[in-house]
Amino acid sequence: MTSSTDNNAGRQSAAAAGELTRLRMRVDGMTCPSCERHVEQALLNAGAAEAGADFRRGEAVVSVQGPPDEAALRAAVEATGYRPGLVERISPEPEADADQSQYRLSVEGMTCTDCERHVSEALLDAGALNPVANFRRGEAHFSAPSAAELRPFEEAVASAGYRPGQVEVLTPQRAETHRNGRGGGDRYDLAIVGSGGGAFAAAITATERGARVVMIERGTLGGTCVNIGCVPSKTQLRAGELYWHAAHQPFQGIRTRAESIDLPGMVHQKDELVASLRKEKYGDLIDAYGWELVRGEAAFEDSGILRVDGRAIQADGFVVATGARPAVPPIQGLNRVDYLTSTSLLNLKRLPEHLIVIGAGYVGLELGQLFHHLGSRVTLMQRSERMLSGYDPEIGDVVHEVLTAEGIEVLLGVTYLDVKQDAAGKHVRVRAGGHERTIQGDALLVATGRTPNTEALNLASAGVNIGSRGEIVVDEHLRTSNPRVFAAGDVTLGPQYVYVAAHEGAVAAENALGGTRPVDLRAVPGVTFTSPSIATVGLTEEAARQAGHGPKSSILPLHAVPRALVHRDERGIFKVVADAHTDQVLGVHIVAENAGDVIYAGVLAVRFHLTVKDLTDTFAPYLTMSEGLKLAAQTFGRDVSKLSCCAA
Ligand SMILES: Cc1cc2nc3c(=O)[nH]c(=O)nc-3n(C[C@H](O)[C@H](O)[C@H](O)COP(=O)(O)OP(=O)(O)OC[C@H]3O[C@@H](n4cnc5c(N)ncnc54)[C@H](O)[C@@H]3O)c2cc1C
Repeated sequence: MTSSTDNNAGRQSAAAAGELTRLRMRVDGMTCPSCERHVEQALLNAGAAEAGADFRRGEAVVSVQGPPDEAALRAAVEATGYRPGLVERISPEPEADADQSQYRLSVEGMTCTDCERHVSEALLDAGALNPVANFRRGEAHFSAPSAAELRPFEEAVASAGYRPGQVEVLTPQRAETHRNGRGGGDRYDLAIVGSGGGAFAAAITATERGARVVMIERGTLGGTCVNIGCVPSKTQLRAGELYWHAAHQPFQGIRTRAESIDLPGMVHQKDELVASLRKEKYGDLIDAYGWELVRGEAAFEDSGILRVDGRAIQADGFVVATGARPAVPPIQGLNRVDYLTSTSLLNLKRLPEHLIVIGAGYVGLELGQLFHHLGSRVTLMQRSERMLSGYDPEIGDVVHEVLTAEGIEVLLGVTYLDVKQDAAGKHVRVRAGGHERTIQGDALLVATGRTPNTEALNLASAGVNIGSRGEIVVDEHLRTSNPRVFAAGDVTLGPQYVYVAAHEGAVAAENALGGTRPVDLRAVPGVTFTSPSIATVGLTEEAARQAGHGPKSSILPLHAVPRALVHRDERGIFKVVADAHTDQVLGVHIVAENAGDVIYAGVLAVRFHLTVKDLTDTFAPYLTMSEGLKLAAQTFGRDVSKLSCCAA
């Protein structure tokens, strides 16, 4: 979608030399990424400073210096064998203007780029400025006068056939410039704030393209995943699982015993793994690729300068990948109690007798079960009435059953009244199931989601908008309201997985260097590493219905999967959601041993629009858990209990 590296230097210097006018040209006849490249090259040859074509949208966006010569651009496209259509000028990003506000409208029912176009056009007709709809995020951004009545925009979206939801006014950020020291620092093509998965992918992408890159980190190199997230939690979970199975294994004729726990020993081994992966996968790469690492907290001084401990860092583009930290819910008394977060819990050297967990999202579930497996009594609580409320109900119900059967106390539909601490421990007073009760324990874990790290960045100085939860607001190219600043990963509050942060980091860097690549979140898997694990991708049955599909679903309990029988662990379920009309697989949801490994097949099915028939016509190795996916697909048309072995 972007032009060649050779063209980059020319494009950037042209951009630096003066103001650019951006145009969008309709281009018919493109069918693939090669067509995009032909069109881009033609436009660049015709004098465009930047060009990005998109065959799916049937359009090209070009930037030209000075008055645009539309005829020359059109002729160039035509000469390459494509059909140029309407050319429209794209207004520059709106300035934070006292009379204009920026809005985010949530829109349900968009399923493709055509829907995005319909929604944008409807908003434009209703008087919105620069509307941009994004079907993956289920939202549209636009500007309108601050005093404007918002109902007409909602009505316009509704009459285009979509369901408008909440409208949010994005916080207007006025530039507050401090020019002291300007010019005193170094100049880079790209400055990246953060050093986690998002930042590293951005730095690798940018240095591979020949850019001069600086990365700024205020804390431990490597960010959340390697230091305090994925790596330490998953290695401790495995230890807990083995310890639990030693005392709870289902086979006759063998005797095993879980002896004792040396928590400091476990933590030490975990720390060694973290340190070695931090070195291999992060520290060593900086020299291998050759970018500069600056230690310290970065804050914008204006839209082109970051200040780090007195040093001014200037760059043509910026990627903010500052991640998120544990959110603390507003529960009375909580701020006066020594509670634990996922970070401090994973470093505990003494096993709690009774661990109370506020929040049953993936962190609460994983860490709650870890400490239960190690021998703590665990009480897991959440506000919502249904466990894993964003998932298909069957998934939440199975997980609830599994945890309860293991001996974890699960309280749903909880209202938190207050939290206190005294010599006897922590006391959490709640109302649940119509009764008030106090849960007392010696440790309290707060695992109620994550808050983006944006406060220290002084985003106001760079004119970067934030949303109501403090997240950086980005468009599908990960561009913020400041066209030179991009954001990636947890700081945008998108799906919070390191592979999403890394994908976004790469896209943000590419776009900050002049590219036009949209972020691709079409099939993002989610895994919770409980035992059995929980893995999902694509739409739930309800989401499929809301997106306008006539969904059909198949549900296969794990006792119908041979692998579960031979392993003597039948806890779990497979659910496949498909479009009843097209047979296309829309979602796969699994609770099973190794669900996280099996889900990759589901990701391919959803991402590449496979049908249920494709799944049933494809081999699945006998006695692997992946056979469950094939059996679940077969369940649409047949009674699997009547099949012979090998799902035949
Ligand atoms: C307990 C736990 C378990 C998890 N398990 C998994 C898992 O199994 N699989 C998975 O895919 N994901 C998992 N995640 C999520 C995953 O870790 C995150 O989605 C991912 O690490 C986010 O990467 P990021 O680059 O956006 O931010 P981060 O990795 O958080 O990096 C942000 C960095 O920016 C730095 N920073 C912040 N502000 C500034 C500033 N002003 N100046 C300079 N530096 C700054 C921070 O110090 C930090 O190092 C887990 C998370 C947790 C908490």
